[in-house]
Amino acid sequence: MRKLALATALTLGISTAALAQEKDWNFGDGVTDERWSLQNIDYALCDVGLNQSPIDLGTPNARGNVELSTMFGTVSGEMALGEEKVQVDFVDADGKGMKSGGTMFNLVQVHFHTPSEHAIDGKRFPLVAHFVHATDDGRLGVLGVMFEEGRTNPGLSNILEAHASGDGTPVTFDIDTMVPDDLDVYRYMGSLTTPPCSEGVNWHVADTQVEASAQQIAALRGALGPTARSLQPQGSRLVVAPSD
Ligand SMILES: [Zn+2]
Repeated sequence: MRKLALATALTLGISTAALAQEKDWNFGDGVTDERWSLQNIDYALCDVGLNQSPIDLGTPNARGNVELSTMFGTVSGEMALGEEKVQVDFVDADGKGMKSGGTMFNLVQVHFHTPSEHAIDGKRFPLVAHFVHATDDGRLGVLGVMFEEGRTNPGLSNILEAHASGDGTPVTFDIDTMVPDDLDVYRYMGSLTTPPCSEGVNWHVADTQVEASAQQIAALRGALGPTARSLQPQGSRLVVAPSD
């Protein structure tokens, strides 16, 4: 998976030197325009791009069920922690991922934001998991699953336990416990929600939420802080909502 991550980085125009650099940007309050291009001109697309993420999914302009299947189950990875970052980089995840509209997206990593970045009818949920995927030729596809407060989530329990042991800690968990049983998604073309805000990302956001306990949500909020980018204009983009 290292090779794939590097190939993805190269596709996105991020040099390995840039990957090793200190993080030079931060999330804001989730509402105010971040203006990341003022931090670094390499982030210009964040402020001038017309296909940016996240968006409010409450005003779709089409309805239909996207042909989507997932190949998840139990997967292993390593904790990748940093400022405003709780992530699991998957290891040996060959064959795991999602097939959307006939295209296979291979599972690369999962990370979290508190609160959710996308909104539905103006509502943001307290936590979101972004499962990041890439095709063999480097196109990105993300599956976003929002969490609401409820029962303890088994997958999150494993991740939080590994989180407590720090960066690089191995972790194994069942992704299917973190995805709705009946998976229907909003679908649109957007961007990375962090610099350099590269576009061409195939966004899939589950229209139903899964549960996490108040303690789990609080633990991730404590580790991440406010980590939702401000909502971006939908513009003239096609946003497909699931059929009822
Ligand atoms: Zn994300």
